[in-house]
Amino acid sequence: MRIIDLSFGKFPEISYFNPRFRPGSLKLKLVLDISSRGKTKKINFEKLYKKIHRLFPTLHKHKCCVSFLYGSLDSFAKKDLPIEEVGGVTDLAHLLEHMIIDLVSFISQMKTVSGITCGYKIPLNRFDLFVECKEKNVARFSCYFSLFLLKEFLSKKRLSKRHQRIIQLAKYIFDNTSLVFYPEKISSFFGWRKSYTKDRIKDLIKFKYFIKEELEPSDS
Ligand SMILES: [Zn+2]
Repeated sequence: MRIIDLSFGKFPEISYFNPRFRPGSLKLKLVLDISSRGKTKKINFEKLYKKIHRLFPTLHKHKCCVSFLYGSLDSFAKKDLPIEEVGGVTDLAHLLEHMIIDLVSFISQMKTVSGITCGYKIPLNRFDLFVECKEKNVARFSCYFSLFLLKEFLSKKRLSKRHQRIIQLAKYIFDNTSLVFYPEKISSFFGWRKSYTKDRIKDLIKFKYFIKEELEPSDS
């Protein structure tokens, strides 16, 4: 699974496919390749969704444009999957779209975020994902971090606190941008060691929340 391209624009040509897109809204466009190698046939989508759901607790509230179903946290069952399974690699691309939507809406506190996943005919494993966003850096981070998480979960790695804290920090920095230059203030807010905070800021850089140059004027 890899990102071929990431760009931003209004993409009016795509509005027709999801009536929930706000007119003239800024969107990210992610071109994604999913290498199938026969593995996706073995993926238990429901199990994968449950794992991801722990880190993205509002996924079950999503309204999916293909199914219009809601998921329920308490009585989780296949019929409650808010994301409709269509099979193969498309499910992974579609799940990634919903993960990106969830992160964008959580970090930048947008009330509604709409998106769509479009598959190519050639090659069959390529997709265009469109997701509404306001801030390019939040959108960029949401794409790279969601893709990283999806790969982690597919390779059977467990959810770690670090994953959760990266999301918490991204949200905190979004609300308090200038504090990125004062790790000690972030440390005291979260109760983290200063070195731990610096490592998590490095994580945000790794997942392109910041372009490195944006941080260069700092003395820290
Ligand atoms: Zn959907």
